[in-house]
Amino acid sequence: MADLRGFLKELEKSNELIRVRNPVSIKFEAAAVLKKFDQGPAVLFEKIKEGATPVVANVCGTRERICKALNVRVEALHAKIIDASLHPVRPKVVKDGPVKEILEKPKLTKLPILTHYEKDAGPYITSAIVAANSPDGKCENVSIHRLLVLDDSHLAIRLVPRHLYQLHEMAKKRGKPLDVAIAISLHPAISLAATSSVPMGISEYAIANAFMHGELRLTRCEHVNAYAPTDAELVLEGRINPNREVLEGPMPDILGTYDITRKQPVIDLVGVMRRRNFIYQALLPAGQEHQLLMGLAREAKIWDAVRHVVPVVGGVSLTSGGCGWLHAIISIKKQSEGDGKNALMAAFAAHPSLKHAIVVDMDIDVFNMKDVEWAIATRFHGDEDLLVIRNVRGSSLDPSSDQERELTTKVGIDATRPLHKPAEKFKRARIPESQNVKEVLKKLDRKLVS
Ligand code: MN
Repeated sequence: MADLRGFLKELEKSNELIRVRNPVSIKFEAAAVLKKFDQGPAVLFEKIKEGATPVVANVCGTRERICKALNVRVEALHAKIIDASLHPVRPKVVKDGPVKEILEKPKLTKLPILTHYEKDAGPYITSAIVAANSPDGKCENVSIHRLLVLDDSHLAIRLVPRHLYQLHEMAKKRGKPLDVAIAISLHPAISLAATSSVPMGISEYAIANAFMHGELRLTRCEHVNAYAPTDAELVLEGRINPNREVLEGPMPDILGTYDITRKQPVIDLVGVMRRRNFIYQALLPAGQEHQLLMGLAREAKIWDAVRHVVPVVGGVSLTSGGCGWLHAIISIKKQSEGDGKNALMAAFAAHPSLKHAIVVDMDIDVFNMKDVEWAIATRFHGDEDLLVIRNVRGSSLDPSSDQERELTTKVGIDATRPLHKPAEKFKRARIPESQNVKEVLKKLDRKLVS
C-alpha cells in the first residue's frame, strides 16, 4: 500500500529502520538521536516521554530510500521527477479513508512535536505538507512549511514568497482566511512531490499521483475547504488568519545556521482528522533528509537545464557539504571546449540559490568529493576555467551574502579536461587484474566481511 506504514514495513524488511525502545523526550533528546543517525536508517521512537504516540523520522534520509519509495533507479531519479512535472495526474477524490477514523478538536500540546535545537523558538512541525485551494477555486497548491506551535490551536507558518504565500495574499485582499489542510506522516512520494518546483496552477498532489502511478486518493477535510491524502496518519485542519502575524523563529534552516526572525502569519486550527493509532512523523531541520527533500527537485531542474545545452549529462549532485542547496557537481560528456562553462550557466539559471558549481567529465563520480577534487587538481586552471558572476540573486539563507538585497557572487569551476591536450594525459593509471588476482581479492573480501 502506498502509505507511510506500508513503506516503514518495507524498510524494516531491508534493515533500514531502527527502533528506539528507550523512552526519549521530544525536547532535544529525539533530535540528538536523529543527528547521530543522519544519513543512516529511518528511526522509530517507540516510547516518547511526553505521551503515547510513536514518532518516526529520517524516512527519506538517503537518496536510495527515496528512490526505493518511487520505485526508480538512482540514475533515473531526475528523469522521473521531470517526467512527473510534465505529466501530472489528477488524483481521485473519495469521501472516506483511514485518516477519518477519528475526528477531534485540536490539541497541539498533546502531539509529540519536536523541539530540535538549543535556541529554537519552540516545538516545530517540520514534516507537514500544507494544501490549499485558491480563493477563486481555480487552483490548488501543496508545499512544505515549518510550523511553530504557539498554543493548543495556533501555529505560526513560515511563508516564503512563493505559491502558498500568493494564495494567502489573495485571500487577505478579500479579508478572508485561507483554508489549509496540514497533513503529516505520508508516503515519501507525497512529501517529495510537495517540494517540486512546478508553476502555480499545477497541484503538487498531481505530481505525487504521477509518482504513485495513479494510486493517490484525496479526501475533503471535515471542517475546511481543503484536501488531504486519505492515507495520511494525521491532518490538522486550519485557516491562515488574514489579520494576525507573530514573530516566527529563531529556527535553523537548511544551512544549519539560524534563519532570521520575521513577522509571519498565524494559522487558527479548527479540527483534527487522524487514524486511531497514528504515527507522528518528524524531520530534523538541516539534516540530510531536509537537504534531499528540498534539493532533489532542484537537482532535477539542473539536470534538465544542462541537458538542453550539452548533449550528454552524467550525474548531478547538490552536495551534502553544500547543504543540498548551495553547491552542485555536474558531470558531462564534453564535446566542444566551451561546454563546461555553458553547463555552469545553465545550472545557475535553473537553481537561483545555487552559489558554487563544478563541472567534471563523465569519468568522475559526482557523489565522491575526493574524485571531484582530483578533477580540480588535474584538469582545472584558475585563469581560464573559472567563472565569477557578481551581484546576482542568491539564497536568502546564506549568511555571507547580502541578505537584504539577496545578492551574492556565484563561482563556477570548469574541471573538465582541456580538449587541445591528448586525452591520454588525463586518464587515471589502471592496474591490470588477472583472473588469479580477481579470485585472490574475492577471498580477501570475504575475510574482511566475516
Ligand atoms: Mn506550487
